Parts: sequence; structure tokens; C-alpha cells
Amino acid sequence: MVLETMRVIDWKRTMQFRNGRITRRAVLIGAAQAGVAASVPSRYQPSLAAEPSASLHEYLVWDVHGHLNTPGDTPRERIDNLLKFADRMGIERVIVFMGYPWAYDPSPDDVRRQNDQVLQAVKRSRGRAFGFAYLNPKHTEESLDELDRCVRDGPMVGVKLWVAIRCREKCLDPIVRRAVQLKAPVLQHTWYKITGNLPGESTAADLASLAARHPTASFIAAHAGGDWERGIRAIRSATNVTAEISGGDPTAGVVKMAVRELGAERVMYGSDFAGRSFASQLAKVLGADVPENAKRLILAGNIKRMLAPIFAAKGIPL
Ligand SMILES: [Zn+2]
Repeated sequence: MVLETMRVIDWKRTMQFRNGRITRRAVLIGAAQAGVAASVPSRYQPSLAAEPSASLHEYLVWDVHGHLNTPGDTPRERIDNLLKFADRMGIERVIVFMGYPWAYDPSPDDVRRQNDQVLQAVKRSRGRAFGFAYLNPKHTEESLDELDRCVRDGPMVGVKLWVAIRCREKCLDPIVRRAVQLKAPVLQHTWYKITGNLPGESTAADLASLAARHPTASFIAAHAGGDWERGIRAIRSATNVTAEISGGDPTAGVVKMAVRELGAERVMYGSDFAGRSFASQLAKVLGADVPENAKRLILAGNIKRMLAPIFAAKGIPL
């Protein structure tokens, strides 16, 4: 007996026909998928006519948010492990920042120690890892000195700001002005916690406020505000802010909404590795119902375009 399998467009494509008769298994699969479809809002349902995705390795992925909290006793061992895991997922380049251990409000000495760890990791990576300088803007003068040490005079290519002080505060201004001079983008942790933010923890609206004061600077809203439906709306009119989707659960809809509200040019993939896995965060992009060319921008194109000026200034090939 010849087994014929045919697929047609719409939900019936999941049904398998055997010699023209629908099998019991096909009915069960079709019913299950119809049930799922009925329970999921239509804006989050994947298009059945979506283009086939490229394989992971074809994307030459850049991960814009990683940390040295991988296994290992030294920064070198930790970056070796990070890159070993990145290889499994087809990730070509990673941006890393903050050493270890972490503190919410680090002293200038602690900031320098953590940046030194990242500098060791970047050197060890032989061009696969790039560093962003971690700063505590409460210590404004020391932050400017550290920016000069790590970016102007060192190999780092951006700035990372975490939770020491909310980024709408005025003490951020000289730091952003110096970052602009150095062509360095600024990545700021942003989150809306239903349990209440840390005292110095920024929301996406805080970043939009800072970005409005510095229209020539390039900002990245890390985690897209955590509560991404609020976060994406908060930065919608701040055209010099790009949403970065790391952290959080691999929820469907974040990339689709970000592309719809901001445009594909203002969305970036990051994992927050090792706090979150590469796979769970890549799934937000690879599973998104957005055009193939949007995925390519999100997975690599946008960060390469953002870093092009500082790479050119430093003579680093992209
Ligand atoms: Zn992080």
C-alpha cells in the first residue's frame, strides 16, 4: 500500500491523509493544534505561510549581553567556557561586561577590578568577545577616568550601566557626553518589577528620559524593560534607543511587538548569558512571526551597524 502524505495551507496542513482518508492520529494532532490556536491571541500565532528560517550558523549571531558567570576559576577559563557553549548555538561574537562577584553599588576600586577581569577575557577570546566598560555613575569623575582607561585607551567598545543609580539622574550626563565623543553605545539595564525596583534600578522610561537629553548618543535598553509590553511602549518615541530582549522567560510575542512598535532596526538579540541560556533567548527571535530580514538585523545586523563607528575608529574589522 502506498503511503501518501500531503500538506495544504491553513490548519488542515497538519492533517495527514492516507490514501485519501484522514488517520486518527492526524485528527488528534489537528484538534490539538486548533485548540492551542483558539487559546492564543491571534497576534501571537505564527503565520503558517512564514518563510523558512536559516540555520543558526548562517545567521553569524552577535550576542550583545553576556557575563563572566560561566564555570571557571579565572576570567580566561570563564570566557573559554562561554565561547564553548556559544559554539554549540552558532553564536559568532559576544559582548561581555561586569566581572565577579557583583555588587549593586560597587566602589570605584571594585568597578576597576571587574573591568580588569573583562579585559583579560576579551584578550583571551582573540577577537570573538568585545567588552563594554562597567561604570557606577554615582562616582562620576572615576567613571570618566574608567571610560578613558577601558575605551579611549583600551579595547572596550561600549558602556554598561546596571542598578547603582537611576539613569535619568543628572550625574549621567557627563558620562554620556564622553561616550558620544568615543563613539561608544550605552547599554542600560531596564526593568519594571511588580515587587518594586531596587532604589537605583532604572525603568525603560528613565532611559527614554536620558536619551531625550542626548539625541546623538546610542542607547540599548537591556531586557526591554523586563515587563516588555510596558518597556517597548516607554521607548517607542525615543528613536536613539534600541530594545534588547535578553533575560526573562522565552515568552512568545516580545520580538513581534518590538518590531511592530519600534521597527526591526531598533531590536537586538542578547541572552544575559549565563543567567539565561542562549537557546531560550534565541527562541524569542527564531520563533517570532517576523520577516527573515528582520531576524538577521536583530541577530547581528543592528549591533554591527551600531558598533561600526567605534570599530572604524579603533581599526577593528567588522
Ligand atoms: Zn545582565
